Amino acid sequence: MKLSEIKSPVSSLPGVGPAASALFSKLNIFTVADILSFYPRDYEDRRKHIPILDFEKAKVHTAATVTAHEWFGYGKMRTLKLIISDGTASAALICFNRAFLEKSLPVGCIIVVTGTFTVKYGQIQSTAFDVTKLAESGALSDFENMPLPNSGIVPVYPLTEGLTQKQVRKTVAAAISQYDRGIETELPAHIIEKRELLPKTQAIKFIHQPETPQELQKARQTLIYEELFNFQSTIALRAYRHKGAVPDARLDEPEQTPSFQNVQNTAQKPDADETAHFVKTLSPSQKQLYDRLTFMLTPDQRAVILQMNADIDRGYVERNELLTKGNGARKTPFTMQRLLQGDVGSGKTLVAFFACLRVKDWSGQCAVMAPTEILARQHAENAARLLEPLGIRTAFLTGNVKASGRTQLLKALKAGEIDIVIGTHALFSKQVVYKDLQLAVIDEQHRFGVIQRQSIIDKGRHTEEQPSVSFEPHLLMMSATPIPQTLALTAFGDLDISTIRTMPAGRKPIKTYLVKQGNEQNAYEAVRRELKAGRQAYFVYPAIDSENITQELKSAEEAFENLSKNVFPEYRCALLHSKIPEEEQLRALQEFRAGKVQILAATTVIEVGVDVPNATCIVIEQADRFGLAQLHQLRGRTGRGAEQSFCFLIYSSKITETGIERMKVMRQNTNGFAIAQYDLKLRGPGEITGTAQAGNLTLGIADIVRDHDILVQARTDAFDYIRTKVAP
Ligand code: ADP
Ligand code: MG
Repeated sequence: MKLSEIKSPVSSLPGVGPAASALFSKLNIFTVADILSFYPRDYEDRRKHIPILDFEKAKVHTAATVTAHEWFGYGKMRTLKLIISDGTASAALICFNRAFLEKSLPVGCIIVVTGTFTVKYGQIQSTAFDVTKLAESGALSDFENMPLPNSGIVPVYPLTEGLTQKQVRKTVAAAISQYDRGIETELPAHIIEKRELLPKTQAIKFIHQPETPQELQKARQTLIYEELFNFQSTIALRAYRHKGAVPDARLDEPEQTPSFQNVQNTAQKPDADETAHFVKTLSPSQKQLYDRLTFMLTPDQRAVILQMNADIDRGYVERNELLTKGNGARKTPFTMQRLLQGDVGSGKTLVAFFACLRVKDWSGQCAVMAPTEILARQHAENAARLLEPLGIRTAFLTGNVKASGRTQLLKALKAGEIDIVIGTHALFSKQVVYKDLQLAVIDEQHRFGVIQRQSIIDKGRHTEEQPSVSFEPHLLMMSATPIPQTLALTAFGDLDISTIRTMPAGRKPIKTYLVKQGNEQNAYEAVRRELKAGRQAYFVYPAIDSENITQELKSAEEAFENLSKNVFPEYRCALLHSKIPEEEQLRALQEFRAGKVQILAATTVIEVGVDVPNATCIVIEQADRFGLAQLHQLRGRTGRGAEQSFCFLIYSSKITETGIERMKVMRQNTNGFAIAQYDLKLRGPGEITGTAQAGNLTLGIADIVRDHDILVQARTDAFDYIRTKVAP
């Protein structure tokens, strides 16, 4: 039987009544399989005898005689104190809420005690101890050469209130003895042999009840390996589905993780031959857009465009083959599945437009999805400005587009009268039907958390003539929160990854200053100098208004009053947050973009995408309340033009330790990859990418950063295994 097939309830195990069952269910343990895969969070090494005398060096683990019972406190607080001695010293066990020990451990009995001891009131004592009775009476010397019970390597489980370690250990032991031989090993036999792993039954037994550190180590290795193998098999299968082949399993070494080059090290001018070659590969609309650009594409932008063109073209070639030949083996043609990483401000949007134009020239439709209304609208405006003059039909769709306009828009989409539609997640809602959606661009993909890839894929075309053939749209995901290579390949291993490493020419690194709350005036004066020079500034706050604020957060509304009336009365200020009616938000942003407003007081609504090159200052109040990725994104609102930009991080005097860390990281780094690495260290991988969700797998015992070496093995094996399975 496979472990996952052991569905009998925990209550079927001896000693587990309704009360215990209820407690276990709080830990998400319902079946015997659940308890068997409820791995210890730690282990205690109780193999060595540690006498009381050595209490300062280690946890005491010794046999002792109970020499007296004493009591202290009154009424409900009356507490039993067991005086014990093991021949090296005497000590007191303080039995809070354990008065019952008076009866079960009478004076003269022999016990085994495990616990941490300290000196209090001139006495060696312990309040946290485990105790087991060895005998009602006798001499300690009788037990001298006997192994102590409750010894060995003892598992420590995560608990919930009311449940004890003893109870969990007993239940686990019962489950193990019931399924002593019966758990199937799911990993292929040749892999178990090659990697020297344990059969499943043994791995489960040793993870809970190891007799030696070696057994424990093997068990951990096996279970971690198995988890990563399954994870990577899923990834390999997905890749096979989209590409018709299982990709190379190779992971770069972590130290080779790509980093954005130093920002000063901006793009070099490509030579004439290269340019001529690049231009030749462009499709007609792409060429038109290229000719209209007032700046040079960076080499990385070009490289990504070339990669995407190749992907898209290949998709069409395979599509057409399928449509003409029909009955080939593969029913799903190649589709692009690409993750485009590039630091904030590196020019991803333009690259995405080039992809759209390629698809348009193959006569397909494109959808560009952004996480916020503001960003979607900005993209739509850019698209209208850049693409409509080329005769491309663009449209804007969000949940808020009014009913009449909406009906018309949906009709036009269905009829194929729109080439590129830009909007929020509404783009992939049920009511939206495309004539032939062939490319979905997802901007700031990390903001969507779990990527609802399925709902996008479902918008692909099923031809009536050949219902078995389905055409999924090409997928381009973009992210400015770069994830380290290993993590990216592991979690998004079925995607191809492109990286824009260079910034457009002429950009200067943003100067970042840390300002203690109370000294804001310094930052304000620096901003005033910039405003005088004709530039603009953002002020960012953690809260919208003073309502419902329990944590003394500064609000954008209050700050707006203060900034416009007291601090900068000579300049025009606007307020931007999500509670303001949409038209007003829009007007504020447009006026800011047009330079009619110099100061924008906002919440984190401006975090992603907002692009105003003349804004050279950002002041982030209570900056220690924000996460690193967020701070980097916010700071990236500046530094978008040729002028020097400035970021002021105002932190409170109550800043936490990790808050200080984050401020330092921001001060010392402008490179998005470096910041992401710190973020990974400070927060752990799960949170940063939603990796667990990305693979549709919750990682339990494995950690892809810590277990990198096992990951490399499991990945290679899984990819090879899937390769031989799908293409024998
Ligand atoms: P992000 O990668 O953060 O999405 P954007 O696409 O918003 O960056 O681009 C930031 C700014 O840089 C925009 O104003 C865009 O027009 C401009 N830009 C893009 N590519 C280049 C380039 N090659 N040279 C100069 N400016 C560029
Ligand atoms: Mg962007």
